[in-house]
Amino acid sequence: MSDRVQRARRTGILDLIYRLLFTGQLREQACSHLNLIQAVSPTTDVCQDCLVLGDTWPALRMCMICGYIGCCDDAKNQHARKHYEETGHPIIQALGRFQDWQWCYIDNALLVPRRLAH
Ligand SMILES: [Zn+2]
Ligand SMILES: [Zn+2]
Ligand SMILES: [Zn+2]
Repeated sequence: MSDRVQRARRTGILDLIYRLLFTGQLREQACSHLNLIQAVSPTTDVCQDCLVLGDTWPALRMCMICGYIGCCDDAKNQHARKHYEETGHPIIQALGRFQDWQWCYIDNALLVPRRLAH
């Protein structure tokens, strides 16, 4: 078996684990908002809104529509989720250690960027 195939298999299992972790189900959830995604890249490695408040955060999420960076749902302030609620921008990407997945708040769908490539 080639390295490439082994890598693909590993990634497939990871997808499954992520999906189970974040959605509680193995079934793949479709997202109808992929056309909103822009070519954004991280402009900061902090949650600016938390800095202002003097709070801390465990992890960051980036808005895939405008590039806003805010703290995750495990954070006290949940700035990434608040950004979605205020702007309607539904798709975020995880930044940091597990940064190869995206999430749609509207569909509760876990998205793996690899699938968005085409
Ligand atoms: Zn969606
Ligand atoms: Zn924050
Ligand atoms: Zn946004």
